[in-house]
Amino acid sequence: MEKIVLPDIKDFHILDVYLQHGGYTAAKKAFTQSPDDIIDQVKRSGLRGRGGAAFLTGLKWSFMPKTTDKPKYLCVNGDESEPGSFKDRQIFEYNPHQLIEGTIITCYAIGAKVAYIYIRGEYHKWIKLMQKALDDAYANGYLGEKMKEKFGTDFSCDIYIHKGAGAYICGEESALMNSIEGKRGYPRVKPPFPAQNGLWGCPTTINNVETITNVPPIINKGWEWFASIGEPKHPGTILFGVSGHVNKPGVYELPSGTLLTDIIYNHAGGVPGNKKILCVIPGGSSMPPLRGDQIEGVKMDAESLKAAGSAIGTGGIMVMDEDTDLVKVLARIAHFYHHESCGQCTPCREGTGWLEKILKRLIAGKGSVSDLDLLITVANQIEGNTICALGEAAAWPVKFMVERFRDYFEKRVSKEISLPVANKVHSMR
Ligand code: NAD
Ligand code: SF4
Repeated sequence: MEKIVLPDIKDFHILDVYLQHGGYTAAKKAFTQSPDDIIDQVKRSGLRGRGGAAFLTGLKWSFMPKTTDKPKYLCVNGDESEPGSFKDRQIFEYNPHQLIEGTIITCYAIGAKVAYIYIRGEYHKWIKLMQKALDDAYANGYLGEKMKEKFGTDFSCDIYIHKGAGAYICGEESALMNSIEGKRGYPRVKPPFPAQNGLWGCPTTINNVETITNVPPIINKGWEWFASIGEPKHPGTILFGVSGHVNKPGVYELPSGTLLTDIIYNHAGGVPGNKKILCVIPGGSSMPPLRGDQIEGVKMDAESLKAAGSAIGTGGIMVMDEDTDLVKVLARIAHFYHHESCGQCTPCREGTGWLEKILKRLIAGKGSVSDLDLLITVANQIEGNTICALGEAAAWPVKFMVERFRDYFEKRVSKEISLPVANKVHSMR
């Protein structure tokens, strides 16, 4: 299977190697076409955002105003802080020039002269690697004023890295913009959406790292080629980060629509000790968990996962075997979202704390079956009542795990399930 985002080419991160394999020819080709043509091709390709929401990329670009006196901006979101998601860093490390080339093409398509690549603060190593690639691109005339001569075009753009400072919420697009502006990373109320009112009040597009990295091959090989890969409604390949109880955890680039069981048992080598799977979270910790007996036949693309009762999210597949203490897992997830809540909205600020407190009560053996209903009630009070999606991110795993594993949770509360000692210290980190 052809890999689009992480090709199996040795030293592909080095500029010379990237150039030997057709690097920066997509940008050159793009400059011979109009920005509207580029947007049209990306629209037709069916490319959907890889940062979690699977929004149509070309459609998002088309929201940028054509006539405006204000500067336009592109933000490339590499904050990657969702537990279970660790795929964008592979691009920073193994394919930074395709990301830079995609950023150049996107800037041209939307009319931005400046792009910020926002990278999670803990990614020290990957920030350095990305900066090296940018420095090489500048030194060789692929960015900045010199690119006009290199590409024979009137267009030029600059790309800057902006480091995060450890807050998960800064991966939310409007908090990310506040962070770049030097403000506290508070999410903004939407609408207005960034295309109308983004960085410094100017039109802005925000796309995930993996999304942008798909753009050069689409321009070079054509939208028809891309649209024919994987599931028609969510085409292309997806980087699946597999973690938890599998023999070969890692990032696997596979066509959208690949069976979840194929990823777990064939690519990721199955479950250690051939244990049964109790639970799988298919798209990063905020997505609804699936029971082990629900995963047969489930395809990994936005539409299929929706039909299966979950969501593709960031493609971060978290596998839990039959000996996992799901109450501890859920308490760990709840702790994360409580800790990362920015505190602006009462349902999120208070509700995430309640969820964590109730789950800790269950772990301490002091809970009751009515606490399970209380968890669902609190989760329902958060969902849909907050400024940003962190509310749902906190509510969904709790609500769906308690609902889908009700029998398990009831037995756990009434101490009918005793777990092996090793699993009592099992943690998601
Ligand atoms: P969203 O569905 O609200 O929006 C998706 C994108 O489409 C945004 O860029 C938004 O501005 C744009 N958009 C949506 N409706 C629009 C409209 N009517 N007009 C113009 N633009 C519009 O989702 P979101 O809040 O941006 O993202 C939530 C997702 O982020 C979750 O599904 C989660 O999986 C993911 N997430 C990812 C990470 C990570 O580490 N990558 C971390 C946390 C959450
Ligand atoms: Fe902040 Fe939570 Fe409200 Fe998002 S939902 S703005 S994280 S309080």
